[in-house]
Amino acid sequence: MSVEYNCILIRFGEIFLKGNNRKYFEDLLINNIKAALKPLKYTFLRSQGRYYVEDFDNADEIIQRLKKVFGIHSVSPALKVKTDKETLFEAAVGMSPMSGKFRVTVKRADKRLPFTSAEMAGNIGGALLRASGGKLKVDLFDHDFDLNVDIRDNGYSYLFYDKIPCAGGLPVGCSGSGMLLLSGGIDSPVAGWLMAKRGVRLHAVHFHSFPYTGEPALQKVKDLAEKLSKYTGQVNLHVVPFTAIQYAIHENCPASFMITIMRRFMMRIAEKIAAKEGCGALITGESLGQVASQTMQSMNVTNSVVKLPVFRPVVAFDKEEIIDIAQKIDTFEISIRPYEDCCTVFLPKNPVIRPKISEAEEYEKALDIDSLVEKAVADTEELIITPMTE
Ligand code: ATP
Ligand code: MG
Repeated sequence: MSVEYNCILIRFGEIFLKGNNRKYFEDLLINNIKAALKPLKYTFLRSQGRYYVEDFDNADEIIQRLKKVFGIHSVSPALKVKTDKETLFEAAVGMSPMSGKFRVTVKRADKRLPFTSAEMAGNIGGALLRASGGKLKVDLFDHDFDLNVDIRDNGYSYLFYDKIPCAGGLPVGCSGSGMLLLSGGIDSPVAGWLMAKRGVRLHAVHFHSFPYTGEPALQKVKDLAEKLSKYTGQVNLHVVPFTAIQYAIHENCPASFMITIMRRFMMRIAEKIAAKEGCGALITGESLGQVASQTMQSMNVTNSVVKLPVFRPVVAFDKEEIIDIAQKIDTFEISIRPYEDCCTVFLPKNPVIRPKISEAEEYEKALDIDSLVEKAVADTEELIITPMTE
């Protein structure tokens, strides 16, 4: 039995819809939904705190896209019919299996109707029992399917089975914008996704060491940004030429501080570009203790060159936990493509594990920090990344 659903119900979390901000959050969520569904054919309806998508050609495609919109908690493909007993019975019979154990759950927003929810559930159940010729049995607690019937006060009812869980979180944009330091690795795309889930609009900066890292390495980062843009909308990807800075550090500073000082430059440059994009935070994919440059002391030394807050949402995650998310959001296969990252090019054998701010500052005296940073920012290329439809 295949059901021709003519409507998709959208449910969103109630938490962020409380108080004065409700309109702001809803407008943002609706904008994000519409952006995600572009250019598909559909009609969007909003009625009494619910959203409905109708008049579509491809329900699966719409659902796949809605699953990526933060702020939506679940969706249900549904059959929308006029609220009229015979029509409801017919619809229920048409969309239900004709054997097994079932229950009917009715919710009635329209209190003017001349029946209670329980009565209507009983009536629809009765219609199903009759139609099945004894093959269906009612079991409220242990059933094969639960036919939900939402009777709204717009004269229509919505019949559905599945509640498909979606991404949850808050609508992208409601928490401001963040600048993600996006490498080609596994962790930083996951970090960006986690912050976007909390409502942060993402922009990204990538440090590129041409000719040590080539076009395939850059393509990898573009592909990662494209995957993220499916959740966040347009991502402005800033590609920073980093080789000159790496040479300067390599030639003038102790090898053990190569990564520490490189990270400090990344932060300084990211903060400058963040200011241009109006971002209120930097985001990295660092995880405590994962490598030498990700100790508390290292993070302190890199943080100390910037004023913006640095969000590290995977700081307490095990690699396996990060990989699970990377697989779920479909970035993992891109991240494991075997191209060099700029950090591996000048990797020292014995990086310092517990650097001090004073040491980093001392070694950096050999460098013209301002002009290196300014030149890198000036030579940065900005790429506009938008979701590609598959
Ligand atoms: P990832 O998997 O995100 O690359 P990682 O475990 O490989 O992380 P590192 O290479 O030490 O860790 O990088 C730590 C963080 O620094 C990254 O998560 C990322 O936010 C940032 N970073 C590293 N290399 C780059 C780069 N080339 N461009 C932009 N950001 C980078
Ligand atoms: Mg890396």
